Amino acid sequence: GCKEVQDALRDELDAKDLKNEVKVVETGCHGFCEKGPIIIIYPEGVFYCEVTPEDMEEVVEEHLLKGRTVERLLYEEPITEENIPSYHDIEFYEKQQRVALANCGRIDPENIEEYIAVGGYEAVGKALTEMSAQEVIDQVKDAGLRGRGGGGFPTGLKWQFAHDAESDKKYIICNADEGDPGAFMDRSILEGDPHRLIEGMIIGGYAMGADEGYVYVRAEYPLAIQRLQKAIDQAEEYGLLGDNLFGSDFSFELHIKEGAGAFVCGEETALMNSIEGKRGMPRPRPPFPAQKGLWGKPSNINNVETFANVPVIIKETAEEYSKVGTEGSKGTKVFALTGKINNTGLAEVPMGITIEEIVFDIGGGILGDKDFKAVQIGGPSGGCLTKEHLDLPVDYDSLIDAGAMMGSGGLVVMDEDTCMVDVARFFLDFTQSESCGKCTPCREGTKRMLEILERITAGEGQEGDIKLLEDLGENIKSTSLCGLGQTAPNPVLSTLKYFRNEYEAHIYDET
Ligand code: SF4
Repeated sequence: GCKEVQDALRDELDAKDLKNEVKVVETGCHGFCEKGPIIIIYPEGVFYCEVTPEDMEEVVEEHLLKGRTVERLLYEEPITEENIPSYHDIEFYEKQQRVALANCGRIDPENIEEYIAVGGYEAVGKALTEMSAQEVIDQVKDAGLRGRGGGGFPTGLKWQFAHDAESDKKYIICNADEGDPGAFMDRSILEGDPHRLIEGMIIGGYAMGADEGYVYVRAEYPLAIQRLQKAIDQAEEYGLLGDNLFGSDFSFELHIKEGAGAFVCGEETALMNSIEGKRGMPRPRPPFPAQKGLWGKPSNINNVETFANVPVIIKETAEEYSKVGTEGSKGTKVFALTGKINNTGLAEVPMGITIEEIVFDIGGGILGDKDFKAVQIGGPSGGCLTKEHLDLPVDYDSLIDAGAMMGSGGLVVMDEDTCMVDVARFFLDFTQSESCGKCTPCREGTKRMLEILERITAGEGQEGDIKLLEDLGENIKSTSLCGLGQTAPNPVLSTLKYFRNEYEAHIYDET
């Protein structure tokens, strides 16, 4: 509904002869999806939510002309006239620390000058004029940045492998094929701050000696593609992409490749196959992409959020960046909050925050005052965490120890009424239909697991089904070729671990 609100606001400003006094800026997402559409009026920072085109007349008349807040559009009723809630007073944002999302909702993503005005492209200037490639890599290593797309591999180390590979040609690739159900972190950065991604990729290209990059974006993100293309065109126009950047001998060009909607193309080697025009299927490793990647050349892949952190590290130094987070997981992480939660949206939090703080303080608790039951973290490859994990600090290692994983940042909340067997069936149904079919354990095994889950949820479970699910799950995990198969059984195995009684009830209870 944002577009209609924006049109109505512009019409109203026109009608009141205010179009030269008030600037309307279309930004990316503020993250608070539950309360959208949102407008923020500066300089006061008054936050109006759930606005409609019909509200615009009152906003212009009352707020802009008479200086009076439109109370019914505020997130909460103001306590006093002096206590009008603004952006940062709202509990949804209070515990957030926006680094990757810093500019989303703050600048016009289609205007390079707005990005430059908030310090954009300073980091790449610093890297290219003051630092060697190795110094850039060392900063990324010292910052403790780990891949935000799934496994959490140290980014600096990955860059080092690509840097050390000898070749006349190297590629740097951004994985923007965000396919987890309920995840929209990368989309938000692409739509809200595309220049940040471009800057991170130029720095990465310089560090590893790659003069060409690809952003692999799913075709289901048309606005993201449109804004990214516009940003690339503007960066070329401003001499930020092309030859001899910042007077150096480093040149860099960037392309977009649209994905065709296969979840498996989020896997590094399948993604490279897809860019090459082949069917998106994983390749066995070794050779690793750093040795033999895109078109057989050394290549490096990171996801959108990882690249979005890079300019901050270079500009503010690794020491400053690493002050946030835990010993083994530095910085922040963006999560997409969905499911039975009051505040659906995107939240960027410091690593080490607890699940309870995310679900209850930021997420506003469970819908309809129901009881919290579990949270599926890490998308279809992740696992379920329960009440006993509410005080678990969210970092890469604690989540793995608890049987889940950070994944790309999907966080689906379940309430007391949710059937956990059904949740496991839903996620397995997804991974099963996305299995590329190349290897037998994943192709056949996930199908058999799904059949078992379907009969259990239909009340036709049999003696031995639980044991069969566990055996199949462990075998698929240890013998599948790629990450999709290796993690596909996780939702089943973790719900079996924590909610075994629900499986048993389906099979053995008569009612
Ligand atoms: Fe394809 Fe699944 Fe094998 Fe991966 S694990 S290669 S998705 S069949």
